[in-house]
Amino acid sequence: MLRTGVIDVSLTQALRLVSPTRHHYFKPFSDIAMCENSTSSPCRGTVDTQELQQVALFEKCRQFTKAREMQGAGLYPYFKPISESEDTVVVIDGVKRIMLGSNNYLGLTHHPKVLEAASRALHRYGSGCTGSRFLNGTLDLHEQLEGALAEFLGKEACLLFSTGYSANLGLIAGLVGRGDVVYLDKLDHASIVDGAKLSYGETERFNHGDLGGLERRLERNGTSRGAMIVVDGVYSMEGNIADVPGLARIARKHGAALALDDAHSIGVLGPNGDGTAAHFGLIEEVDIIAGTFSKSLASIGGFVVASENVIHYLRHHSRPLIFTASLPPSNTAGVLAALAVLQQEPERRDRLWANTRRLQEGFRSLGFEIGPTDTPIVPVLVGPLEKTFLMWRRLFDAGVFTNPVAPPAVPPSQCRLRTSMMATHTFEQIDFALEKFASIGRQLGVI
Ligand code: PMP
Repeated sequence: MLRTGVIDVSLTQALRLVSPTRHHYFKPFSDIAMCENSTSSPCRGTVDTQELQQVALFEKCRQFTKAREMQGAGLYPYFKPISESEDTVVVIDGVKRIMLGSNNYLGLTHHPKVLEAASRALHRYGSGCTGSRFLNGTLDLHEQLEGALAEFLGKEACLLFSTGYSANLGLIAGLVGRGDVVYLDKLDHASIVDGAKLSYGETERFNHGDLGGLERRLERNGTSRGAMIVVDGVYSMEGNIADVPGLARIARKHGAALALDDAHSIGVLGPNGDGTAAHFGLIEEVDIIAGTFSKSLASIGGFVVASENVIHYLRHHSRPLIFTASLPPSNTAGVLAALAVLQQEPERRDRLWANTRRLQEGFRSLGFEIGPTDTPIVPVLVGPLEKTFLMWRRLFDAGVFTNPVAPPAVPPSQCRLRTSMMATHTFEQIDFALEKFASIGRQLGVI
């Protein structure tokens, strides 16, 4: 089961779900009549080999009709263009809707200090870096942000990446070499899974939260091999928090490095919004923290913090860092400002948690099943895919935007609508959304 993020990821899942698993393409090329004595050009009237190859390649695209069927039925929930955004309210198809599917946990995308910093940097440095960090694409702003993040998260050094996705690729493929083993929770985010695929090491996946299973795998592989455990600090589809104390104990016992993906924890968990390790008071025990700027930090980009040695190594061995352009100036400056606001305005986090409690209690008291969430990520179990898309559509029409989660992220009978809270939602907006969930949930027999 491949884990994914929110909107983007659910699409991948839906597409996979509906893709035929096997395609019977054209006959082998040996069957194709070609001119005698011709090595390259086909006879007039027959099909060009190159064209056939292309047709064969594209056959899967022709066969892929499920998304179009969903579009035809008006139930297709993906790629909805937002034409205006006022933080918790977005305009789609000319209609205002409450955004209940964003990862903008602290509501900083519209904060005046963030906008001002981004706009100043845009004019000072231009619209892009047009090169890799390694060569012409390093700005003083990048180094300032790396310093600020390392300090905030209690680690020696930091390395920025252009997305959270590439931070995980760069971290895992950069560190896990031939002969090493990377251990992943089966509900880890897709970027962690892809990082393991890109590495030259071996991957072992243990059942979600099954620390006994993890330990058995580590024992089997022995301590002579390099080992890294990588888990989500907060699981992106379920909203539950990783058992960091248990993982840290096992990592130490078996000489493994422990890395957390704190995409959904920064700004949310920890005494200062400083993430899952800080939440458990275990900053020292967690070797590496990766994260993203596309959630609480209100932009795009990613980072890894660790010891100076590890970061120095990654700077010179991480292909997703070296072979791609660096974070644009306006984003970098916006994130620096957002990180400052995150620390200067702790009341935002209080507000986020008050909203989270209201939403979770509201769903539970209405009789919705929301699983083991401990955070502002609140998935509402609906059941089969069709019903989930129908419920998504009715909520959308009623002015509430949510994210459907489909197989293979979840079993086919456990499709859900993922909702998430922002600090800037008002109680009125939350109550409005709950009211719509209640009436539509009853119409569809979900509650
Ligand atoms: N890790 C997790 C747990 C995520 O949920 C996401 C995004 N959905 C990412 C990594 C990737 O972050 P980004 O969007 O910055 O590429």
